[in-house]
Amino acid sequence: MQQSAPVIEEVETILLDVPTIRPHHLAMTVMNSQTLMVVRIRTSDGVVGVGEGTTIGGLSYGPESPEGMKLAIDTYIAPILATCDPTRVGVAMDRIASAVQGNNFAKCAVETALLDAQGKRLGLPISELVGGRRHDRLPVAWTLASGDTARDIDEAEDMLARRRHNIFKLKIGKGEPRANVAHVAAIKRALGERASIRVDVNQAWSEATASAMLPLLRDAGVDLIEQPVSLRNLGGLRRLASQTSTAIMADEALQGVESAFQIACTASADVFAIKIEQSGGLYAAAKVGAVAEAAGIGLYGGTMLEGGIGTTASAHLFSTFARMEWGTELFGPLLLTEEILEEPLDYSEFTLGVPAGPGLGVRLDEAAVGRFRRDRPDRTIHLLKTGS
Ligand SMILES: [Mg+2]
Repeated sequence: MQQSAPVIEEVETILLDVPTIRPHHLAMTVMNSQTLMVVRIRTSDGVVGVGEGTTIGGLSYGPESPEGMKLAIDTYIAPILATCDPTRVGVAMDRIASAVQGNNFAKCAVETALLDAQGKRLGLPISELVGGRRHDRLPVAWTLASGDTARDIDEAEDMLARRRHNIFKLKIGKGEPRANVAHVAAIKRALGERASIRVDVNQAWSEATASAMLPLLRDAGVDLIEQPVSLRNLGGLRRLASQTSTAIMADEALQGVESAFQIACTASADVFAIKIEQSGGLYAAAKVGAVAEAAGIGLYGGTMLEGGIGTTASAHLFSTFARMEWGTELFGPLLLTEEILEEPLDYSEFTLGVPAGPGLGVRLDEAAVGRFRRDRPDRTIHLLKTGS
């Protein structure tokens, strides 16, 4: 007798506010904590799948926020999931796509939870559901963001000595471009060939400024220049990519497979920063990877500073790409002061280990969830008392 498919019985969304180890400076904001939107999907066969959505600095980076993701899932996506077969993840995501425009980050969190559940059901890691694992470990970059040259060099030396990172990225969109380039050059001089130095402008420069800075960055020994101009200025990105021998990477401009195809067709970037959230999920990000491979564009595994769940989901997908020429920046959990997983991810030998258990292969620490959830009772009282 054919068994009937399980049904989705509950979709729960929780906002977790977790402090960061230091202020994280970007062109558009300074982050002092990270909000993780966690979604849990419980199905009638007793399986629970977990997914996560994050942004960088609330709404300052893009059009979605953790609070908006929660609202989109609770109000619009959960009722659709109630009618879906959770063992057909692709079909469920197609139905959501036909009823919900945009909201890529929320869709990614839901798809992650469905894939986690399906992996647990089948006894397979997510990597085996999205293309098949090729790598068990992935190189991981670290962002130096103190803004102080000596402190950044000390931090990089410490990371090298501990064999945690040997790829360093500097956020240089905020402040005076020449001073920032001098800061980067000093760091590269101190570290030499022991480390790869990359910069992320986060769209902050005009094309003219970027054009003037590119030769200085090249001479400083910078390997990769990320999103120097606005995501809307694809022509500018293309002209800059054709001007310099240093690799130019598209990040914010990459908003799913159609934009990937457009960037590839116009040769507007040498490298793609693939992000599962920005792409709209793991399946969609896999297609972005396929476009890059077909066009001879290099791959870099990007982050939205996800916590343990979203970082693991990203790692599962990135482990399936034949060549991750530029490594990844899956350091999100290291930026948080507290662990939210029962067992922390393995960061060692300049790499992240991709968990091997069924589904995501990681479990949320329920005590940590209780401590950091925004709707916990003592926090509500505190907010009412202080009026903040
Ligand atoms: Mg970036």
